[in-house]
Amino acid sequence: MADVIIAGAGLAGSVSARVLAEKGAHVLVLEERSHIGGNCYDVLSPEGIRVHQYGPHLFHTSNEDVWDFLSRFTQWTPYEHKVKAHINGVNAPLPFNFNSLRVLFPPQEAQKFIDALLGHYAPNTKVAILELKQHPNPLLQKLADFVYEKVFVGYTAKQWGIRPEELDGAVTARVPVFVGEDDRYFNDTFQAVPKEGYAKLFENLLNHPNITLKLATPFVFDPASSMRVIYTGMLDRLFDYCYGELPYRSIHLEFETINKIWFQDAATVNYPNDYDFTRITEFKHIHAAKSQKTVILKEFPCLHVKNKTEPYYPFFTQNAQALYACYANHAKQYPNLLLLGRLAEYKYYDMDDVVEKALQTATRVEK
Ligand code: UDP
Repeated sequence: MADVIIAGAGLAGSVSARVLAEKGAHVLVLEERSHIGGNCYDVLSPEGIRVHQYGPHLFHTSNEDVWDFLSRFTQWTPYEHKVKAHINGVNAPLPFNFNSLRVLFPPQEAQKFIDALLGHYAPNTKVAILELKQHPNPLLQKLADFVYEKVFVGYTAKQWGIRPEELDGAVTARVPVFVGEDDRYFNDTFQAVPKEGYAKLFENLLNHPNITLKLATPFVFDPASSMRVIYTGMLDRLFDYCYGELPYRSIHLEFETINKIWFQDAATVNYPNDYDFTRITEFKHIHAAKSQKTVILKEFPCLHVKNKTEPYYPFFTQNAQALYACYANHAKQYPNLLLLGRLAEYKYYDMDDVVEKALQTATRVEK
């Protein structure tokens, strides 16, 4: 007999299952898909190239506890993610930084922008685009307008279907303008991918005598039950859409195997202004492979359709957040129900945020 049921074997569910199991609880993990790992799940392609089945997942954190915890279950391959944005026919480093200016503008003009940035911001700081757009300096305004139009407007329209300023500012602030020369997409202390892949990491996490895993088994909520539940799925679905559907963005993923050793000059190239896809990721840049071929992924964002597409991103508008608050409030009447992770908490968590939250939550749950 289980002490706790965990709905979902993604990062939130698997980390909390492990913590509880190590505390001596008997944990039943129910996963509706036929595999563990949630959207981190990866496989080897026939060419021996490791491919992230639900889009690129790059692990990065500055939280030593999170890093130490996961390091018990995997060895790592150091990896710092590099992204370029295809602008005016060339690939410029993203986050937008001094090197991007040098790629996109003649040397003297680039230097003027650099001097203007350094005149108003400390070196190596990050400025959100919506903040830079408010700057009174005319040169910085010109720069902000350029970056806003060329990097953010088109991409955000494809990704979310709205303009950047209609979104919670934290979303575009994830990709700030960088006052310096750091081309890395993240600047956390620890950056790596699991040496043998994410699927193996999850296998190790869930490999504990106190954990029972059932795949292809959807969780059905019983309001009358007093069983403790950690729920990591969509909250509207849990409560039978009683307040209406929560909006999520989904992505249609198109993988292609290309008969070339390399396809592009960075792991991910974003296309803010061309094509219907937002970005192309080439997995060999992330996990080294000897193949003469290469596997790429094009991401076509779309609205999530109930029971038809995968919900990838909660929606960050005031209306969507208000609707979520109704569900979260509804959930409060069930003290044995804990909500955890990107879907259940309707938050734009990165992987390390989820692990941190799962470690805190599961530590609080009594055995
Ligand atoms: N964004 C953009 N242009 C880009 C990259 C990002 O407009 O080239 C905006 C867009 O709104 C996106 C958000 O910044 O949804 C966050 O981007 P991030 O790369 O963090 O998205 P994720 O990798 O989580 O999909």
